Amino acid sequence: MQERIVSALHQSEDDPQIEIGLRPRSLQEYVGQEKIKEKLKIYIQAALERKEALDHVLLYGPPGLGKTTLAHIIAWELGVSIRITAGPAIERPGDLAAILTNLGHGDVLFIDEIHRLSHSVEEILYPAMEDNALDIIIGKGPGARSLRLDLPPFTLIGATVRAGLLTSPLRDRFGVVERLDFYSPAELKQIILRSANILNVKIENEGSENIARASRGTPRVANRLLKRVRDYAQVKADNVITGVVADAALQMLQLDQKGLDEIDRRLLTALVEKFDGGPVGLDTLAACISEEPETLEDVYEPYLMQLGLLKRTARGRMATSEVYTYLNLKTKADPQQKLW
Ligand code: ADP
Repeated sequence: MQERIVSALHQSEDDPQIEIGLRPRSLQEYVGQEKIKEKLKIYIQAALERKEALDHVLLYGPPGLGKTTLAHIIAWELGVSIRITAGPAIERPGDLAAILTNLGHGDVLFIDEIHRLSHSVEEILYPAMEDNALDIIIGKGPGARSLRLDLPPFTLIGATVRAGLLTSPLRDRFGVVERLDFYSPAELKQIILRSANILNVKIENEGSENIARASRGTPRVANRLLKRVRDYAQVKADNVITGVVADAALQMLQLDQKGLDEIDRRLLTALVEKFDGGPVGLDTLAACISEEPETLEDVYEPYLMQLGLLKRTARGRMATSEVYTYLNLKTKADPQQKLW
């Protein structure tokens, strides 16, 4: 898989120390997602007052929108420890049993990519989530016995790109299910100004607005672009990110005003020119840009849909009329019309 500057996925260049430094620590510092924050504040206060563990929380949405960050914040606001793992990392039921038995009273267990848990591991989670119990099988064959162990109350926070990827028994066991949305340019601007402050970067209003516009609604992309634009400002300008400097840096990165890169344009061009605007299957489209179908579907498509450039239909992906305007082409509906 290719690393794109606009990828919302965590990449090798995202230094973990810097990412941690930029991560907001409390709900108050967390920008945007107002509805979710408002609800979480109430649930957290109620759980604290009752001295109970918070109900299990499922967070879903495209990568880079702040699910992991929110899990850390929830633990911090509850005043408990957090244990972090990911679906593919828990290979056997015993691995999960070991994690669960080591949790403290009321702790948070965060499982990223929770849809990738194997079936046998998932089965361990059901009684743990519902009854704070761990069912273990001792021995093999006809002599095998099942033993039930008590677990301390805990909060499971699961993260995934789409809630529909979870099996329904697992999804049903979450009391709180929230979808994270793309951030508005104003919210991204706030995140960029905050990060610039932490990184000690001089930035003007217009500079932060131009970076925000190209950040694909995603804080992780915003922070990555800020770092690249900072390099440009240092070497090519006066160490200050002005509007002009930001635009020049984004142009060097071959990003346009909407944050689309060469590969997005290749995809949209193929959709229009090779497939006559669609509908075309996901696999075929992914092959056009040498990308995994899952990555195209979960990482790149949501933003193209948000921009109104792409439609998912039962028969496949389709270009909207906006694509023709964007690519400066004649529309399919009106081949005579010239848009330039
Ligand atoms: P996800 O788990 O959804 O992939 P992360 O929680 O790892 O996303 O967020 C990626 C980065 O974006 C974090 O390092 C953090 O600095 C930044 N970030 C995410 N959400 C916010 C937010 N609401 N406010 C400020 N920064 C954020």
